[in-house]
Amino acid sequence: MTHRLIACEECDVLHRRIVLNAGCVAHCTRCGAELFRSRTFHIDTVLALTLGSLMVFVIANAFPIVTLEMKGARNGSTLFGAIVTLCREGRPIISGLVSATTILFPLTELMIRLYLFIPLRQGRLPARFHFFARVMQTIRPWGMIEVFLLGVLVSLVKLSSTASILPGVALWAFAALTLLLAAILMFDPRHLWDLAEELAGSPA
Ligand SMILES: [Zn+2]
Repeated sequence: MTHRLIACEECDVLHRRIVLNAGCVAHCTRCGAELFRSRTFHIDTVLALTLGSLMVFVIANAFPIVTLEMKGARNGSTLFGAIVTLCREGRPIISGLVSATTILFPLTELMIRLYLFIPLRQGRLPARFHFFARVMQTIRPWGMIEVFLLGVLVSLVKLSSTASILPGVALWAFAALTLLLAAILMFDPRHLWDLAEELAGSPA
């Protein structure tokens, strides 16, 4: 029987882990910082949220975000179309940043999540678990779909005086995606490591 230890992220004191009752939080005995919480999410819930996010992500990128109507002319654009336009207009850095923070990083995070959670749910430890779990943690802050959505909404309010605006399917999809990603973030990543530890410790 191994003693499972956890270090306080604030002051590095080591504590022995205990099993918490539902809704309880463990705090550091020296500085009072939060150490860990009881498992509030089941892996099935996170997996369902991840699959739902991926589906909504595809819809958000396949349809126009908004259609502008001005002097009889209509112009709609998808996120990818907007990125290509930015690049063509001589703004490759902004175009690269938008594509990385709204497509590349969120999609990579969701794919890694699926890669990790599907085998874990089946009771298997996925190959290179530690590497992919760390990559997921590293890129997580760089997914900025909610910032993008906020930017789009501010732009639409500004444009509303000069053109009539028809919200596209993708705009609603991005709003739904923001909520789904926020729900996924409620899952404490430490539970992922706990699951992996349990599997690594159990006989095959
Ligand atoms: Zn502490």
